[in-house]
Amino acid sequence: MLYHSTRNNQISVDSAQAVLSGLAPDGGLYVPAALPQIDVEACLQENTMAMAARIIGAMLPDIPNMETLVSRAYQGKFQTEELTPTVDTGKFTVLELFRGPTSAFKDVALCMLPQLLTAAKREKGMQEDILILTATSGDTGKAALAGFADVEGVKICVFYPQGGVSAVQRAQMVTQEGNNVAVCAVEGNFDDAQTGVKNIFASAVEGRLPAGNRLRLSTANSINIGRLAPQITYYFKAYADLLRRGQITMGDKVNFCVPTGNFGDILAGWLAKRLGLPVGKLVCASNANNVLTDFIETGTYDRRRPLHKTASPSMDILVSSNLERLLYFLSGDTELVANLMKQLNTDGFYTVPDSLKQAIAEEFWAGYCDDAKAKETIKNVFDNQHYLCDTHTATGWAVAEDYVNQTGDTRPMVVLSTASPYKFPAAVLSSLEEAPEMDEFDQMEYLSKSTGTVIPNNLSGLREKEERHTGVIAKDAMLDFVMAL
Ligand SMILES: *Cc1c(COP(=O)(O)O)cnc(C)c1O
Repeated sequence: MLYHSTRNNQISVDSAQAVLSGLAPDGGLYVPAALPQIDVEACLQENTMAMAARIIGAMLPDIPNMETLVSRAYQGKFQTEELTPTVDTGKFTVLELFRGPTSAFKDVALCMLPQLLTAAKREKGMQEDILILTATSGDTGKAALAGFADVEGVKICVFYPQGGVSAVQRAQMVTQEGNNVAVCAVEGNFDDAQTGVKNIFASAVEGRLPAGNRLRLSTANSINIGRLAPQITYYFKAYADLLRRGQITMGDKVNFCVPTGNFGDILAGWLAKRLGLPVGKLVCASNANNVLTDFIETGTYDRRRPLHKTASPSMDILVSSNLERLLYFLSGDTELVANLMKQLNTDGFYTVPDSLKQAIAEEFWAGYCDDAKAKETIKNVFDNQHYLCDTHTATGWAVAEDYVNQTGDTRPMVVLSTASPYKFPAAVLSSLEEAPEMDEFDQMEYLSKSTGTVIPNNLSGLREKEERHTGVIAKDAMLDFVMAL
């Protein structure tokens, strides 16, 4: 199946190559020339793994043996066989995406990506090893490490800003096992680490990496279609759960509210709809970094504003890369997309034509929620629905409430839950009650006792695990670090 760049439909590759390349050579993102069709009713009757194989297989048909890859990716790694359970809270249905090995929603995609990459490599007869290089502000790093650990033919190296991630996130990364993993702190902030990684890529392009002919650089970033495709599955899974519970009948439309950063998660929902799932509105929830709220309301995307550090850090983002794919899908115009992206780069903003703005508004609704509101929501949801949610999920819940209040839409609403409350124990605990001063690991235990909820295994054992990657380097030493791997 052919994929082409969002900025030029002459630049095209098959789906296996799209996964291997990540980004198109002109800087665009790969999109399928035509979306595949699947048998939706048959799909909805399958278990989650079979659903995943069917959906990912339809999106990436040039990668063979999808059932085997799916089983290798997920079997035994999630807390439940159904991978992404839903909880009927009596108000909204919560779709729990955080039951994977690192308690983050990114596990769903990052367990699968290594399987897709290595299979695509085999398919293309590629001999070199792949080196995955990632700068992380917390969640992506650990999920990528866990996904790629001990995968043959791939190495992974993660840089994080020293002092810039939570104690739990640091512990998750520095205790990572596996003979192909490297983790290192960088003296600087996330931008420094990110810039360092970009510079290493530039060095590789110029042939300045000694291992350049043995190693191919790649990233675990969400612009890769191999990360997006696995995320479509859980929309089907949630719909199937509502069917099984008798809350809907086949064909009824269901709304989804998605805590959004890079626009990958919500775009997967839009793709589910295009594959035939009866999806109503897709509600895009942002935190105080409400670029997308403004865009969906006005048609102008404007990144010229300060980045706020919030209690939902995985959504602190000013440029949502995957929005570019939606602009292409809804306009079908690569030249328009290329021009808009150029303008974003040079001027810091763009405005879409009215027709495109309207096409977006037909399928999406947007809102945002600041930290104070998110805290209040955590408390209200716990008091009224007896459901404990994290700060990102609370953002989604609050915006879902706004949506229902402002539109009166009474269709069933599924709120996507993107992180375990135990990944952000300080913020969650302080939303519920005044807790004594203590470190993050004690906060986890306190939260568990106080709410009667269970700490996920991967987080509860962290404090006792051996620290394996304790290095800290200057930001200009990152290239040397990679060359010594
Ligand atoms: C990455 C992430 C998000 C945002 O998802 P996008 O696909 O980037 O929109 C939301 N919540 C959590 C916890 C995340 O890790």
